[in-house]
Amino acid sequence: MTSGTDLRPAPPAGPVGLLIGGDRITVTAAGSAHQHVYPATGQPNTTVALASEVEIDHAVRAAWTAQREWVSLTVDRRRDLLVDLADVVHDHLDELAALNVHDYGVPVSYAGTAVLLERFLRHFAGYVDKPHGSSTPVNGSFDLNLVEREPYGVVAVIAPWNGALAVAGSCVAPALAAGNAVVFKPSELAPLAALRFGELCLEAGLPAGLVNVVPAGADGGDALVRHPGIRKVHFTGGGTTARSVIRAAATNLVPVVAELGGKSANLVFGDADLDTAAVLSAHQGPLMQSGQSCACASRLLVHDSVYDAFVEKFVAVVESAVIGDPFDPGVGFGPVISQGAVDRILRTVDDAVDRGTGRLLTGGRRIGGDLAQGFYVEPTVLTDVDNSSDLAQIETFGPVVSIIRFHDDADAVRLANDTPYGLNAFVHTRDLRRAHGVARELEAGSVWVNTFSDISPQGPYGGYKQSGFGRTGGIDGLNEFLQIKNIRIAMG
Ligand code: NAD
Repeated sequence: MTSGTDLRPAPPAGPVGLLIGGDRITVTAAGSAHQHVYPATGQPNTTVALASEVEIDHAVRAAWTAQREWVSLTVDRRRDLLVDLADVVHDHLDELAALNVHDYGVPVSYAGTAVLLERFLRHFAGYVDKPHGSSTPVNGSFDLNLVEREPYGVVAVIAPWNGALAVAGSCVAPALAAGNAVVFKPSELAPLAALRFGELCLEAGLPAGLVNVVPAGADGGDALVRHPGIRKVHFTGGGTTARSVIRAAATNLVPVVAELGGKSANLVFGDADLDTAAVLSAHQGPLMQSGQSCACASRLLVHDSVYDAFVEKFVAVVESAVIGDPFDPGVGFGPVISQGAVDRILRTVDDAVDRGTGRLLTGGRRIGGDLAQGFYVEPTVLTDVDNSSDLAQIETFGPVVSIIRFHDDADAVRLANDTPYGLNAFVHTRDLRRAHGVARELEAGSVWVNTFSDISPQGPYGGYKQSGFGRTGGIDGLNEFLQIKNIRIAMG
């Protein structure tokens, strides 16, 4: 553990406001505000004004005005503005990373999401001046048949607390590239980096109101989804919330993309490079964002022949994690989001041990000493886990990994697929045929072979089964924000 040197810059002075039509609004009609708490110290950080129905309505109206201005610009101009935005984001990467730390206590060494935002912006800027449509022949005539792709107009993008900047990149960037305006709702738990991104959009010269940022809780989110001016909803979060969002979107029959949670399997075969697999599995499992990632490799399936050797290496990497102040660049492991999360995670581990559905190898406690006031949970590993137990089936969203033994490839695939989720799967093997064969059998939207979840703007990302539907990234991610129009012109 590192020393408790306090390198952190001061949090933004509160109240932190909403960004609507280019204006910061710090006092809302309903007057509701959220007391933001810094997870590393458990102390109040700042207050955040929360959007109510009134502000949601203002934001949707501002977005429609800006959208008309946006599509009145030539594609050259829109492309250049998105490139300018990527440049402005680039100039503020450190500031955005620091706000991420304030938002949810993620170590500053994990700057990934601010960098991802820039990459997605550059990628999707490149689509703006490329063809989106096609023409086709039609039976029995010489008519001209055009298939055009058009923006929806105004879309809602709803983000979880653990990845507002990633969602800004993977969802707001393609929405803009497709010609839409956005009402972007970050979680009230982590709104700071998202609000700064909204300001950077203005600094880059995007029309005021093209990106409105409205921190809100469930009520504001519900008002946004039900607003008649919203034409599509892109939701990232948990399955329970997704069901509420889909029911609300049914009011106006608005389509929804759902990027949800996972219980990802991580398969270590007998022929894997065990040292590399141990490092990647620890990073992708309990260590990255303290396991608070949709891509967390929370079920580690290990072949009989290397079980003991691998588990020893894996636990050694997990136990070497540098835990401490998230603003210390040498720290790799920070707190979880809240006291409620600490209680939930530890209860899950205790239940598994009490019921005999898992045996604790390391971790399983709250961290004390200098970090006792923060929401720190030890990186935790359980072995001999029953794959049908709650521990193995329910998303823990904390630094907890379950190890399960398998006997052959078919057994590994059966265990990996035996969950309601299907977001990611990880495979460690040196056998190319096995890598291809197993990847085809896994029920997951993304399969990563001998690597971790290294999301790129080019690769479509999303879920199978209860991990959601729709994709971010690449042309599939762009097409989520375009609707299709067929135009047939009679040629006589
Ligand atoms: P959550 O479902 O609690 O909240 C997600 C967002 O929905 C928040 O902005 C929240 O304020 C909002 N919300 C809550 N109730 C709403 C309602 N009734 N109507 C509209 N919006 C509402 O999730 P969370 O705790 O913020 O995030 C963690 C979850 O997100 C995990 O399940 C994680 O796996 C998932 N996640 C998925 C991905 C992915 O790409 N698949 C990425 C990151 C996180």
